[in-house]
Amino acid sequence: MGGTFDPIHYGHLVAAEEARHDFQLDLVLFVPSGQPPHKTDRAITAAKHRYLMTVLATLTNPHFAVSRVDIDRPGPSYTIDTIELLRQQYGPDEEYFFISGADAILELLTWKEPERLLGLCEFIAATRPGFPLTALSETVGQLGEQYGARVHVLTVPALAISSTDVRQRVASGRPIRYLVPETVLYYIEKNGLYRPRVPSPAEEAPPLEGRGDEFTADEAPADEVPAPAPSAARGDAP
Ligand code: ATP
Ligand code: MG
Repeated sequence: MGGTFDPIHYGHLVAAEEARHDFQLDLVLFVPSGQPPHKTDRAITAAKHRYLMTVLATLTNPHFAVSRVDIDRPGPSYTIDTIELLRQQYGPDEEYFFISGADAILELLTWKEPERLLGLCEFIAATRPGFPLTALSETVGQLGEQYGARVHVLTVPALAISSTDVRQRVASGRPIRYLVPETVLYYIEKNGLYRPRVPSPAEEAPPLEGRGDEFTADEAPADEVPAPAPSAARGDAP
C-alpha cells in the first residue's frame, strides 16, 4: 500500500487488514512516499516522521511491515519504479497487489507507464465512504478490456478518515484519539507535528488564540520540507 501517510490513520489500517484477509496476503507492505509527485500544494512532513509513524502504527500486526524503498531514493515516487524495486527485493515469482483507495484507481491511466504497471501487479481498490461505485466499475471494466488490468474492488467498513482531516484537527486543537493509533497520537504530540506555525517576532503578527500561543518559535515543527514547484508531469503516488 503506497501513500503519503501524513499521518497514517485507521482508514489505511482497516483497508490493509481487509485486503490481507480477503486476498490471503502473506504480507502487507506500507510504502511511505518520498517526494509525492502531485501533492505540491502543501508542505509534506519530513519522511522520517511519516516513516516512524507508519512503523508505530503497524508494529502489532505480524503481517504488516514498512518499506523504505521510496523514501531512500531521490526524486518522485512513481508506482512503476516502486513495484520494480520490490520485485527485485522480494523476487519476481511472488504475486504483487497494489492496494490503494478507489479514487486513485480512477486516475491510474495518468500514472507513469500504466500499461507496464498493469502487467506487473494486480490492484485492490478500497472504496471510501461516499465514493461513486458506478464510475469505479466503469473504469475497472475499461481497464480490464483495454489493458487486461486485474483490478479488484474491496469494500471496507465505512471509515471517513483522511490524513487531511487529522492534520486539520490537530491544528485546531480537536481530538484525533480513535482516528489514529495511540502510538501515532503520542508521536504527533511529542514532535509537535501539524500544529499551526508560530510567526517569528519579525513578522509582528498578533498572538495566536487557543492552543497555538502555548508554543514558542523554537518548538514550532522543524519537520516540514518545502513542497516542490508544481511540475507538468502528472505523478502517480497516492
Ligand atoms: P490526504 O488527506 O493527505 O490525501 P489520505 O488520508 O488520503 O491523505 P494517503 O496517504 O493519501 O492518505 O492515502 C494512501 C492510500 O490510502 C490512498 O490510496 C488512499 O486512497 C487510501 N486511503 C486513505 N484513507 C482511506 C480510508 N479512510 N479508507 C480507505 N482507503 C483510504
Ligand atoms: Mg489522499
